[in-house]
Amino acid sequence: MTQEVTGQVRTRYAPSPTGYLHVGGAWMAFFNWLFARHYQGQFVIRIEDTDRDRSTEAFEAAIIEDLRWLGIDWDEGPDTGGPYGPYRQTERSALYHEHAGILRARGAAYPCYCTREELEADREQAIAEHRPYRYVGRCRNLSEAERRQREAGGRVATLRFRVPEGHPTIVVEDLVLGRVEFAPADLDDFIIQRSDGTPLYNFANVVDDRGMQMTHIVRGSEHLSNTPRQFLMYEAFGWAPPRVAHLPVLLGVDRKKLSKRHGDTSVRDYARLGYLPEALVNFFALMGWYPEDGRELFTVPDLIERFRIEEMGKSAAVFDIQKLNWMNGEYMQAAYRENPDRVIDLVVAFLKDEHLLNGEVSPDVRAYVGRVVAIMGERLRLPGDVVTYGEFFFRDVAYDPEAVQKVLSAPGVANLLRRARAALGALPSWTLAAIEAAVRGAAAQGGVAAKDVIHPLRVALTGKTVGPGLFELIEVLGKERVLARLDRAIALIESAGPSAAPRG
Ligand code: GLU
Repeated sequence: MTQEVTGQVRTRYAPSPTGYLHVGGAWMAFFNWLFARHYQGQFVIRIEDTDRDRSTEAFEAAIIEDLRWLGIDWDEGPDTGGPYGPYRQTERSALYHEHAGILRARGAAYPCYCTREELEADREQAIAEHRPYRYVGRCRNLSEAERRQREAGGRVATLRFRVPEGHPTIVVEDLVLGRVEFAPADLDDFIIQRSDGTPLYNFANVVDDRGMQMTHIVRGSEHLSNTPRQFLMYEAFGWAPPRVAHLPVLLGVDRKKLSKRHGDTSVRDYARLGYLPEALVNFFALMGWYPEDGRELFTVPDLIERFRIEEMGKSAAVFDIQKLNWMNGEYMQAAYRENPDRVIDLVVAFLKDEHLLNGEVSPDVRAYVGRVVAIMGERLRLPGDVVTYGEFFFRDVAYDPEAVQKVLSAPGVANLLRRARAALGALPSWTLAAIEAAVRGAAAQGGVAAKDVIHPLRVALTGKTVGPGLFELIEVLGKERVLARLDRAIALIESAGPSAAPRG
């Protein structure tokens, strides 16, 4: 796009604390943050809690905590304070009243006494006549006497913004979308203050963005239709509007609005599954931003340096969880190289969550988890992969019936397993080299190829035909578990008869 960004940059993320921070919100916060950091500007958090019924302090605290976890920091906010506070809308009522008064005094807003029933009837009539509903303007030009009369009758007014008659086309030069035009005739007079005196989103948002000296509004396309209304308010106040950038909508891989099924869950759910914050922010950056060289892995300082809002795509961004999983794997491997304990901690937490580890985790158990993680190697993209590829490390073998049928039911297998058990049981030291020699020796004694022992051993010990290296997993499982599992497998084969499959 053509827009140059000049001067001081101030952006904000303005969540309504009515739920946990979801990935869509975090994505938005992240771009505001990245944009501010790229231009050495300031990033502000403002809590839009005017919906008293749905907003809670607990959600506010959770949102703040989850943003911090992602590594997003802010210069001003409800917790840190700052020169343009308070940063919570419920604490800014006086400002909204003052500004509502200004608009009213200028005739840019007027009290509306229409009742809910009247408005509902208007709406039904519009539907019956197949035309879009717009406020009919019943209270637009009331005289003072008519207003007093309604008030005397007990009616309490809301405040409506007066869309100026004959206003020229509203032009928005969006940093992402380019030039967008809106016909004022499509806008009707909208409510800016409820009858209880509380402000509505469009109005409070303008008062605050101006009051907090925002220079750039980066937000979701779902707010694009609010922009012309907000621009009219800036005009009524005599203020220059901020620059705006509307990010594309976020879709799932099914190309539908991002749903829970395709990844729209809270940031803390991702944290619980062991996603790494550095992987998430890298992934966020590449949803909607397409750096020219097609590079995919960026550190945060790289992102701050390289990010250009002009390189944002206009069309929908796709949340591809497979790509996130791949990226998490890259960061997981890097984290492991740098500090294995960090990864082991995540895996331990995950296993506890899944009840595969219970109670206090002793140093021995932790060391065991560490050995399992080590042999997972590059398979480990998420802590859950430890279960996907190595559940047998943490619970009794669940035999895959097909593996049993194919591998364990073959004639002579029980004998080969018995030989392997004897060789392993006799080992004085449980090392990789000794284990391998014992297994190969058992095959040679039985007059078969090594693989004829290796395959049944794998199924007997893990229940499956694929998985981590056999000698490594034998070493990690430990002698006691290995011998017990072999005994069980041999007994199962024998009890099932010469050719029948044992049951898991
Ligand atoms: N509280 C609004 C929201 O969460 C903020 C929208 C805006 O950025 O203007 O959608």
